Amino acid sequence: MKYLITGGAGFIGSHLAEKLLGSGHDVNIIDDLSTGSLENISGIRNSKKFHCTINSIMNPDVMEDLVAKTDYVVHLAAAVGVKYVIDNPLLALETNINGTGLVLSICNKFKKPVFIASTSEVYGKNDKDALKEDDDRLLGSTHISRWGYAASKAVDEFLGLAYFREKKLDVTIGRFFNIVGPRQSARYGMVIPRMVKQALLGNPITVYGDGKQKRCFTYIDDALEGVVGLMNSETAPGEIFNIGNTAEVTIEELAGRIKKLANSRSKIVYVPYEKAYEKGFEDMKRRKPDLGKIKKFTGYHPKHGLNDILTKTIEYFEA
Ligand code: UDP
Repeated sequence: MKYLITGGAGFIGSHLAEKLLGSGHDVNIIDDLSTGSLENISGIRNSKKFHCTINSIMNPDVMEDLVAKTDYVVHLAAAVGVKYVIDNPLLALETNINGTGLVLSICNKFKKPVFIASTSEVYGKNDKDALKEDDDRLLGSTHISRWGYAASKAVDEFLGLAYFREKKLDVTIGRFFNIVGPRQSARYGMVIPRMVKQALLGNPITVYGDGKQKRCFTYIDDALEGVVGLMNSETAPGEIFNIGNTAEVTIEELAGRIKKLANSRSKIVYVPYEKAYEKGFEDMKRRKPDLGKIKKFTGYHPKHGLNDILTKTIEYFEA
């Protein structure tokens, strides 16, 4: 098969490219290097089955050319990271809404199946025990940039489902829950690379808010098993799937575990949300996926626990 990965030089995209190449497929990527990097793809750049286009997904001529010669499109290009989205609200909205709109229209023109990456952010402040794909979404005020990001990814989902229903285009949607692992940058605000870096440098480990908020972290390899399983499923198109892990941890406990596993002498400090992000910032108290649907469709079963994830990430940053 020939795959096109948008955002293929990013954290998730570069790992997916490697995995697909490893299974003998051809992989084209397009990336504007806004948050991705050439370093991420340095290990595969010389592969004969790999091609890289440094350009924007907003460029219709380039995208038409790439989509026309591919069998399956994986659309990962998006504004990522809560901090990045707050610092670049307009870019985030434009990339997510206009970019995904263009990708879908071109996939439809050439009738190419597409996987759309969405996010657990779309659930917003709904903090029920295990979030199901058809649960309500609870978003705060439009003054808060984070909810603009959540809304833009929800628009991506609406667009994808509309193309499936009206145009019979094969669109599969995955909602990622805090995917982590090697190559994830600390630059865009994600908590694990930030805390690991802080711990290794002996800098204060910053816990935002009261640290009681909980997250479920998913190792990149597990997430990709989910993505590949969905791409190979004949019944997945037209559906939305949670992709994650169900083990919950509070952020203050996470800080403690990172400090211990990294043998760090860093202090753990608490930083108010307003100082870390922006005035009026709202966080979600917890965000845990129900994985019943993806298990049923693909047999998905995440294998990596938190200590394993942290150890691998610490090793990566040490190297
Ligand atoms: N967080 C933190 N310290 C940091 C970075 C993030 O305590 O240095 C918190 C953040 O406020 C959130 C959690 O860690 O409650 C996860 O943040 P991340 O940005 O990784 O993902 P998301 O908020 O999208 O779940």
